[in-house]
Amino acid sequence: MIKYIDMHCHCHEYSVEELSSFIEKNILLVCVSDDPASSMKTLEIRKKLEITPCVGIHPWEAHKYNIKHAKNIADLAIKNNVKCLGEVGLDKRFVPKTYDHQFSIFEIFLEAAKEYDLVLNLHTAGAWREVYELLVKNDINRAYFHWYTGPLNLLEEITGSGYYVGINAAWKIQEKHRKVIKHAPLENMLTETDAPYKYKSLELRPDYVVETIEYIAKVKNMPVEYVLFKINENYEKLFKSPL
Ligand SMILES: [Zn+2]
Repeated sequence: MIKYIDMHCHCHEYSVEELSSFIEKNILLVCVSDDPASSMKTLEIRKKLEITPCVGIHPWEAHKYNIKHAKNIADLAIKNNVKCLGEVGLDKRFVPKTYDHQFSIFEIFLEAAKEYDLVLNLHTAGAWREVYELLVKNDINRAYFHWYTGPLNLLEEITGSGYYVGINAAWKIQEKHRKVIKHAPLENMLTETDAPYKYKSLELRPDYVVETIEYIAKVKNMPVEYVLFKINENYEKLFKSPL
């Protein structure tokens, strides 16, 4: 069945009732986690609702945890048949002071993704090239650059390597992101919101993915139904599983 996809949503910050209301609107929620507690919460949500869970340690939270915590989260994924690690990655833009520590945590997730063929739901602010090069070096097959706002020439390398980039509802107010929509091939795009994050005046919500599909269709000069179909296909390729 064709669905709208929110490839990056912090479901643990919503109530089950709120999440149900999004699911009723035919939105598939890929739920990322920030730390051990929210990873557990994401797994609890999965018991009640049909979502795609990801567990991980967000680079902004990395300084509070060590390698052992990261290994425990990777184990949690394997034991619970979770196919995705996120939100994980590196951030040189907002939290550059903890970069080395972020790196040590991220290495654990890279190893686990490689060993168990997991999807990486990546945060890469200001560290787009560093993360890309680590993916290539570690022979990672399945990766998603959430809310990509990095350089356009790197975008070509990322998509050329078969990785996916996230188109966030922030295109409404972020010129840099509209350029990404123009340049990225549809074959490598997925839609997302990062809800309930507040970006400037925009309170991001999962249902914004509907307008994002319409906007991509307009920019690419393609029918809306076709864009929606391709985004579904991209999800299925990335997760190697039908919707
Ligand atoms: Zn996020």
